[in-house]
Amino acid sequence: MDYSTFSILQIRQLLLDKKVTALEITNFFIDRVKNIDPKINAFITITEKEAIKQAEILDVKINRGEKIGKLAGSIMAVKDIYLTKDIQTTSSSQVLKGYIPQYSSTVYQKLINEDAIIIGKTNTDPFAFGGSTENSGFFTTKNPWNLDMVPGGSSGGSAAATAANLCHFALGTDTGGSIRQPASLCGVSGLKPTYGLNSRYGITSMASSFDCPGVFARTVADIATVTQITAGHDPHDATSIDQTIPDYTQLLDSINLSGLKIGLPKEYFSSAINSEVKDKVMETAKLFESKGAILKEVSLPSTDLGLAVYYILVPSEISANMARYDGIRFGQTVSNSTDIISYYMNTRGQFMEPEIKRRILIGTYALSSGYYDAYYTKAAKVRTLIKKEFTDVLSEVDVILTPCSPTTAWKIGDKCDNPLEMYLADIYTVCINVAGVPSLALPCGFDSQKLPIGFQLIGNFFEEAKIMSVGHQYQQITSFHTEVPNL
Ligand code: GLN
Repeated sequence: MDYSTFSILQIRQLLLDKKVTALEITNFFIDRVKNIDPKINAFITITEKEAIKQAEILDVKINRGEKIGKLAGSIMAVKDIYLTKDIQTTSSSQVLKGYIPQYSSTVYQKLINEDAIIIGKTNTDPFAFGGSTENSGFFTTKNPWNLDMVPGGSSGGSAAATAANLCHFALGTDTGGSIRQPASLCGVSGLKPTYGLNSRYGITSMASSFDCPGVFARTVADIATVTQITAGHDPHDATSIDQTIPDYTQLLDSINLSGLKIGLPKEYFSSAINSEVKDKVMETAKLFESKGAILKEVSLPSTDLGLAVYYILVPSEISANMARYDGIRFGQTVSNSTDIISYYMNTRGQFMEPEIKRRILIGTYALSSGYYDAYYTKAAKVRTLIKKEFTDVLSEVDVILTPCSPTTAWKIGDKCDNPLEMYLADIYTVCINVAGVPSLALPCGFDSQKLPIGFQLIGNFFEEAKIMSVGHQYQQITSFHTEVPNL
C-alpha cells in the first residue's frame, strides 16, 4: 500500500480502524526516503530511530484503546532550523554542525504532541538565507521534477520532500518567500501565515520581525489540519498572537467563489515575468472568473521598493541575530586561537558560509551610526507605506492573486555567482513579508519543460481561513496538486 497518497485525516482513520499500524506506515516512509532521497538530497538527517520509537509508542496507545492525537501516524519532515530536542539541528550551516538542542521549538512540539512522526530534518540555505538551497553549508537539494534544477529556497528540502511524497507534510519558514517560492518551484502547496500566528520560539532567528513558521503539504485540507494545531499564543514568544483560532478545517468551504473579488496587482504582471508563468497564472484567475469571481486590476505602487526595503531591514536584523554564534555556546569551535577576539573571528571566519557573512556586512553597514537614518530608518518608513498599500487594496477586494516567482526553477549553479540576481528573484514574495499579511501558495500547472508553476492568494491580517477556503475550492476543481514527479 502506498501510504504517501493518504491525507492526514485518512491516515489517522486507517490507524483507528486497525487497517495498518503506525510502525508499518513509518517503515514504508523510511524505505521510501532511503530509496529516493539519495537522488534529491532533501534531508540532512534522517531520524529513523526516533520515528520508529514514536510509531511504537503510538501503536501501544492504539492497542490499549487510549486517545490518539489529531495527526496520529502522519509523517512530517522538519526544516533544519527548527530546534528538535536530542536531534541534531544545524540550520544548514557548518557553524552549528553537531549541535544537539536541549529543547524543542513550540511548533514542532505541538505537532509531536498530536502524534505526528518525524522522518527527518531538511536542507535549507544556512539560517534560511537564500532562495535555492545552494547556500547550504552541506549540499544543494535537487528539484524532484528535474534533478538539474534548484528546488527553490530557503525551505527547498521541505518542498522537495513534500513533492517527492517523502512525508505527508513538512515544516518551513517564510521570511521573504521561503515557503511560497520553493512550493511554487516544486509544485506543492505552502502557507505563509500572518506574522505572529505561529510561534517562532525555538527556531533559529533570521529576521525576527519577518520570520513566519508555516507548513507545506500537497493539499490545502492538510495544511488546514496542521495549522489548526500550530497556530496560537505561546508564552515563550511575545510576538505570537493571543486570540481565538478559528477551526480552519471546518471553514474550507465557507467562502462563496461567486461574487468573490480578486485583485490582480498590475505590478506583479509586468515585463519581468516569464510569459509561460504569466499565462498560467492568468488562466488561473480566469478559472476563478468562470466560477463567478470578479477580477479587478489593482495597484501596489511600492512593489519596486519592496526588494530594497527587504534587503536593508532583513540583513540588519540578521546582523544582530547572528552575534550569538561565537563558537562558545553552540556548534563547532576552533582550537587555533590565542585570545578571545581571534577565537570569535576564527570560528565565524571558518564556519560561517559566504552568504551569512555577506548579510552580516550589509546589515552592520545599514545600522552603523553614519548610515542608520539614510538606510534603516528610511526602509522602516517605506515598510509602513507598503503595509498600508496592502491593507488599502484588501479593503477593496477579498483576496489578491499573483505569481510566486517570476520564473520556474532554474539550473543549479546559474545564479550562484550573482547574489543580486538571486535577490531579484524574490520580487513577488518579499512585500508580503514586509507587510506581514498571510499568503497561500498553490500549484497551477507546468511550463513547456514540465517544471511546476505556482500562484499565491494573499489575504488581510489573520484571514488564513479565507485564503485556505479559496485555495481548497480551487483544488476541488483542478488536479495539479495530485501530480507527482517520476523518481
Ligand atoms: N530568498 C529570500 C532571502 O534570501 C527569502 C528567505 C526566507 O524567506 N527565509 O532572504
